[in-house]
Amino acid sequence: MHSFDGHNDVLLRLWKQGGDTAAAFLDGEDRGQLDLPRARKGGMVGGLYAIFVPSVTRNDRSEPMSEVPYDVPLPPPPELTHAQRATLEMASIFFRIAERSEGRFRPARSVADIRAAKASGAHAPVLHIEGCEALDPDLKMLDVLHAAGLRSLGPVWSRPNMFGHGVPFRFPSSPDTGDGLTDLGKALIRRCNEMRVLVDLSHLNEKGFWDIAKISDAPLVASHSNAHAICASARNLTDKQLAAIRESSGLVGVNYAVSFLRPDGKRIAEMPLDTIVDHMAYLVDKLGEDGVGLGSDFDGALIPKTLGTVAGLPELIAAMRARQFGEPLIEKICFENWMRVLTRTWGE
Ligand code: ZN
Repeated sequence: MHSFDGHNDVLLRLWKQGGDTAAAFLDGEDRGQLDLPRARKGGMVGGLYAIFVPSVTRNDRSEPMSEVPYDVPLPPPPELTHAQRATLEMASIFFRIAERSEGRFRPARSVADIRAAKASGAHAPVLHIEGCEALDPDLKMLDVLHAAGLRSLGPVWSRPNMFGHGVPFRFPSSPDTGDGLTDLGKALIRRCNEMRVLVDLSHLNEKGFWDIAKISDAPLVASHSNAHAICASARNLTDKQLAAIRESSGLVGVNYAVSFLRPDGKRIAEMPLDTIVDHMAYLVDKLGEDGVGLGSDFDGALIPKTLGTVAGLPELIAAMRARQFGEPLIEKICFENWMRVLTRTWGE
């Protein structure tokens, strides 16, 4: 089964790793959760590739969350010059992988590009930024990134920035944790609509979510989030938010991070893949069969041990089949629903 994935952080992993990052990705290696050989093995034919600028002061992603309840304090945003340099460096990794790939890794800017890559057995990555710390208030950098192929962005990662306030990593917690978008953030959403860039709702708090629901004329998309009714993390979506996503013909990409899957909220990788299917079934019930996709968070999160890496995706498909998901529904969740919502957002 071929799949398209809504979120991964492999560019961040490679950037931190250094060395010959193109070779590491193209030839594969025994670390991380995503590279080209393992993507092929798992049937992942493309996805949104995030650029994420880590905070300068501390490691954002290594918080111990095995104890609950938890509330991880948020760092201040990185400065513009730092964020722009890191963004250029990760974008360069992305394009150098493409350059060295002999056509196997083909940056996509449209649904036609993704389908063409899939048909020829190539991988179709789409450039995304998770948090807009690299954007200036006039959004000039957005023009440049868009020209370079950027087709999706999240206004905020969980920490606050000049565009808005993200949702903290907190369990148990409602996503209604503070102020939403700033005026600049609202201008950013309007500009994204004009440019037909996808606006990602994952990592926004509830006020920010409703700000975008009110402003945006595109389908509402949360690229890597789960159902709050099953796992009461502040990062997950309430039934009311899901109803708004359905109303807009939007989509939720199911996130494999154990902290956003497990009903107990604990950061423990020993868990059944059935819990991912529980979230899928719940989301299909709330959003309809056209509103659910994949949003792995590969290389950005601790994921269930039985999945392990992208090469483990057939295990997840098997769990969907065991739950009596029919082949047409599996095909929609794995691939076609992302194509539908991207077509609606980007145009033909
Ligand atoms: Zn994320």
